[in-house]
Amino acid sequence: MSASEGVEGVVVVGAGLSGVACAQELRAAGVPVRVLDRGHRPGGRMASRRLWDRYVDLGASYLTTSDDDFLAVVEGWRDRGLARPWTDTFCALGDGDPVAKSGPLRWGAPGGLRSLVEDLAGDLEVERYDVADVAGLPGAAVVLAMPDPQARRLVAEDHPVAAHLDREFEPVLALAATWPTRTWDDVSPTGRFDGAFVNGDPVVAWVADDGRRRGDDAPVLVAHSTPDFAGKHLEDPAAAGPEMVQALCSALSLPAPADVHVHRWTFARPVGERTATHALVEGPSGLVGVCGDGWGASPKVETAWLSGRDLGRAIAGRLS
Ligand SMILES: Cc1cc2nc3c(=O)[nH]c(=O)nc-3n(C[C@H](O)[C@H](O)[C@H](O)COP(=O)(O)OP(=O)(O)OC[C@H]3O[C@@H](n4cnc5c(N)ncnc54)[C@H](O)[C@@H]3O)c2cc1C
Repeated sequence: MSASEGVEGVVVVGAGLSGVACAQELRAAGVPVRVLDRGHRPGGRMASRRLWDRYVDLGASYLTTSDDDFLAVVEGWRDRGLARPWTDTFCALGDGDPVAKSGPLRWGAPGGLRSLVEDLAGDLEVERYDVADVAGLPGAAVVLAMPDPQARRLVAEDHPVAAHLDREFEPVLALAATWPTRTWDDVSPTGRFDGAFVNGDPVVAWVADDGRRRGDDAPVLVAHSTPDFAGKHLEDPAAAGPEMVQALCSALSLPAPADVHVHRWTFARPVGERTATHALVEGPSGLVGVCGDGWGASPKVETAWLSGRDLGRAIAGRLS
């Protein structure tokens, strides 16, 4: 089926968590919905790639909850073995001796975070389609569930929604690395390493223990670069691998890894602030809504879910 074949209802472009949450809210309200994504599978930045015979989370590191409705969703995943409480303690490196830092409970997913988006999608069919322009899409409303810079490409400059798409996003490179065995627990003052903030390093900002968060203790780490470093290597991210490996090994006193993989996130996270949870405007050929983690107080998985849900409710209200 081509994207220009008509349906009455809503076309959601983007099958990350916000798009899937929006689509499910619309469906629950009885509104027909189609979901399009240019990727092979739903998930967006909750990305898990199969490396070294298991899934490795290359995008979001974990999720946290502060909203009761989202907590209920996460507890549902936990009850079915899809999500697991991971840790509330990481360490901070780079300012003298390592220091343990406690914070909110972080959740991981044994099957990778993408599996949670796929579960939320359920039997919702996600059609593979790289949308070039909202003007060609049918339906009473179109939803752009993606970062502002990606959404801007899909609307004319004079479209009424364009004025709302003013938030910039910064890049990150993710380096996944594996070793024959785990050798880094002693880096943490607690004796158990789950992840580390690397302060003051120009290359690596954060390291997550993928074996610990997934629960299989595989000897795999995922390092995220600083935005400045990523910005210099967007053309050829693989070439940034050796410098990221050096920074990671130096921060954790590690030997050279057995294998590595580098992933580029051109639009990893929004900069600046925005408190609105979504935008919904009347365009020349129908309603256009925008949602995602750029809509809400802090750019995270929970924000994306809340944004998609709220936009779905708002559209259902307008169409009923
Ligand atoms: C490196 C990194 C680390 C992160 N760490 C954390 C963390 O630890 N905790 C946390 O809570 N959050 C974290 N996040 C943020 C979290 O991943 C996002 O908040 C959430 O996944 C955003 O979901 P979304 O639906 O808004 O957007 P996305 O997941 O980006 O979904 C957008 C979708 O739109 C699709 N799309 C774009 N353009 C088109 C087009 N033209 N046609 C068709 N489809 C299109 C894309 O393929 C994608 O699937 C991190 C993100 C990154 C990148």
